[in-house]
Amino acid sequence: MAKSALNNQETMGNRKILANRILNRLKKMYPEADCALYHNNALELLVATILSAQSTDETVNKVTPILFRAYPSAACLASAKAADMETIIKPTGFFRQKTKNIINTCKILVESFGGEVPRTMEELIKLPGVARKTANVVLGTWFQKNEGVVVDTHVGRLAQRLGLTWTGKDSKDAVKIEQDLMQILPRNQWTFFSHALIWHGRRICVARKPKCDACELSSLCPSAFSSE
Ligand code: SF4
Repeated sequence: MAKSALNNQETMGNRKILANRILNRLKKMYPEADCALYHNNALELLVATILSAQSTDETVNKVTPILFRAYPSAACLASAKAADMETIIKPTGFFRQKTKNIINTCKILVESFGGEVPRTMEELIKLPGVARKTANVVLGTWFQKNEGVVVDTHVGRLAQRLGLTWTGKDSKDAVKIEQDLMQILPRNQWTFFSHALIWHGRRICVARKPKCDACELSSLCPSAFSSE
């Protein structure tokens, strides 16, 4: 085998070893890591995840109980008046586009899926306002299907700091970061890993001034005590 191919294999092997060490530590740190968006079914999780774009889970969790009380099914959401929905979801930002996406998505759910949320990546990413991140949240969290890794702002940042992506420093290409993570993590851990990294990003490895002195990953982290 050519020397460069051997080097590539060795590098990938080292990345997998690092990823598994981090994964095992995260399991001890956050055994209960789960999605922070309140939901009682796949539809509520799908809508909450659409609302979470450019917003916080706390804000979404304040809005969704009101939204789902007013519109408790896909059919109700599909026939909502846009202006009424906009008023409810306004605190989450980008409320006009989100309203359009929720209403149009729910129309498709009613027309093509009997009002239910589809269970495949292929079907989910055709829905308005649903990209891989949202589909991964729904598939992994509700349907327990590990089809990908949820790459939100926390996972993207931590993957960079922890050396788990080779997209190039400061790259925010979520699709590429997801591909890198999928190569080095065991598939049955993809969803847990996403949730645990999000929890760690909120608590310790925050965007500005990560708390490296309180971080249980610091001995594994190539960016420890060197981030901004
Ligand atoms: S050591 Fe610092 S930079 Fe690395 S994961 Fe922990 S908090 Fe983040």
